[in-house]
Amino acid sequence: MTTKQDQLKQLRDRMEQDMSLPLRTEGNPDAKIYFLGEAPGQSEDKQGRPFVGQAGKLLNTLLERIGMQRADVYISNIVRFRPPNNRPPSAAEIAAFLPYVNEEIAIIQPLLIVTLGRFSLAKFLPTDKITQVHGTLHTVNWQGRPIHVFPLYHPAAALRSPEIRSTLEEDFKKIPSVLEQLKS
Ligand code: URA
Repeated sequence: MTTKQDQLKQLRDRMEQDMSLPLRTEGNPDAKIYFLGEAPGQSEDKQGRPFVGQAGKLLNTLLERIGMQRADVYISNIVRFRPPNNRPPSAAEIAAFLPYVNEEIAIIQPLLIVTLGRFSLAKFLPTDKITQVHGTLHTVNWQGRPIHVFPLYHPAAALRSPEIRSTLEEDFKKIPSVLEQLKS
C-alpha cells in the first residue's frame, strides 16, 4: 500500500512540475529593471500574480508617472507564498526562496534592481537601514560581480503613511535618471 508519505511526495513532485501553477512573478524577461518586493498578500495569493492589490495599484501609478508599465519591468517577491495571517516572512522562509530569486536575477540580468521594503533591501545591503539608504544608488558585489541596487520604501508602507508616500514618490521619480546613468 502506498504510504501517506509517498503520496505527499508524489503530490509535491507533481506541483514542482506543474508549469501552470502561478509563480507569483511577472513581467518582461528582458526588463532593465527588476522590482523585488516582500511576499504575496491576499489579493496576490488569489490571483497568483505579484502586486495586484492596493500596494500594486500604487506601484502601477508610480510606474505610469515615469512613463513605464508593468510589461516594461519585472516584478518579483523575496518569498513566493503568502505567510499565514500576513505576518512578515521568517528568516528560514527567506533563505528557502533565496536560490530561486538568485537564479531569476541571473537569468534576467537586470541593469537595476529596485528593492521594495526592508526584506528585499536586506538581501543586498544587510546592514543598511531603509530610512538612510532609500532613493540612493548602491553597487554591491553579487555572486562575484557588481550589481546596482536602488532601495525604495515598500508601497504598502506608503499607503499607511503620507510622509513615506511622498518620499516614495520623490525617490521613484529618480529611476529614469538612474537608469540613464547606468546605461552610459
Ligand atoms: N506586497 C509585496 O511585497 N508583494 C506583493 O506581491 C504584494 C504586496
